[in-house]
Amino acid sequence: MASSKPDPVSNENNCSKENTNEASGQNCFCLDDLVNVATVGTGTFGRVFLVREKKSRTFYALKQMKIPDVIRLKQEQHVYNEKAVLKEVNHPFLIRLFWTHHDECFLYMLMDYVPGGELFSYLRNRGRFTNATALFYASEIVCAIEYIHSKDIVYRDLKPENILLDREGHIRLTDFGFAKKLSERTWTLCGTPEYLAPEVIQSKGHGRAVDWWALGILIFEMLAGYPPFFDDNPFGIYQKILAGKLDFPRHLDFYVKDVIKKFLVVDRGRRLGNLKNGAEDVKKHKWFKTVDWETVPLRRMKPPIVPKVSHEGDTTNFEAYTNDEWEKEPSVPPRDLEIFSNF
Ligand code: ATP
Ligand code: MG
Repeated sequence: MASSKPDPVSNENNCSKENTNEASGQNCFCLDDLVNVATVGTGTFGRVFLVREKKSRTFYALKQMKIPDVIRLKQEQHVYNEKAVLKEVNHPFLIRLFWTHHDECFLYMLMDYVPGGELFSYLRNRGRFTNATALFYASEIVCAIEYIHSKDIVYRDLKPENILLDREGHIRLTDFGFAKKLSERTWTLCGTPEYLAPEVIQSKGHGRAVDWWALGILIFEMLAGYPPFFDDNPFGIYQKILAGKLDFPRHLDFYVKDVIKKFLVVDRGRRLGNLKNGAEDVKKHKWFKTVDWETVPLRRMKPPIVPKVSHEGDTTNFEAYTNDEWEKEPSVPPRDLEIFSNF
């Protein structure tokens, strides 16, 4: 894809109207130069807008988080993690971060706009995917996870809502709010109940193995149309995860059942992906036997779904949102703002 976008964010580019003495590197953006086009997503404390830079006329996604909500929900460390991780990664299947900023109300992250929408929407529309379709997404995700893990980072939030499709239909993982650089073991409970690994629920600390568990859940959900462990309330889901009992729909391929079973091993020491050879063991599994792994990160595998995108700023693949009830709230007290001085 031809792109005139600057290089992803580095430490030296935090330039803004309030911050003009800081190094004015090439990645210099100002809020005043970004025109809000539409809301494309909402999260617990944030909103993601499609914006357009006035001069270059380039579209970007601007994630905006309300500082009081970030503090109330104790997400300070997570937003710093998200920024730190995105600054460090550079891969065709991961979102790129160009600029971060904060003012007295919000934290801002400027990223690529990925116009194809969430894998979640395609899955819900179709009910379930064919084996070949699931294999495509699983293969690109394996490469993304392998890369992330090679940087000693765990993603921790793999789910269909966080997998976006670009114009051609290749994946881009977004939302690194739970991602974390590994230093020994990590202990906090976060993520979506259906996708939580046993060791997360049991607070045993969690490393790379959680991402392989989540991939097992995702492959199951792509093929079945529903996740393997579900219940009306999170506690019921947790009980089922810990029991680890799998009921496969009858139509599933033999090898895919095998790979799912191997990812959904409660004992993470025996879980596929977390064994001696890491991602290599995954790539060698028979379900992936038709995949040419060298070419996957080159985006040479043929996407099974090509999103309908009429132009770079097309938002029709996202839910429609109204822009109301997202107004500036009273300013944050200086003491609280101090927490984000390095954002
Ligand atoms: P969550 O509640 O999942 O933690 P969040 O506040 O961390 O949400 P994100 O998951 O990063 O927010 O973004 C919310 C939604 O916005 C995504 O599910 C996706 O639909 C959309 N979105 C995020 N980033 C982009 C992007 N770069 N391009 C297009 N859409 C995006
Ligand atoms: Mg999300």
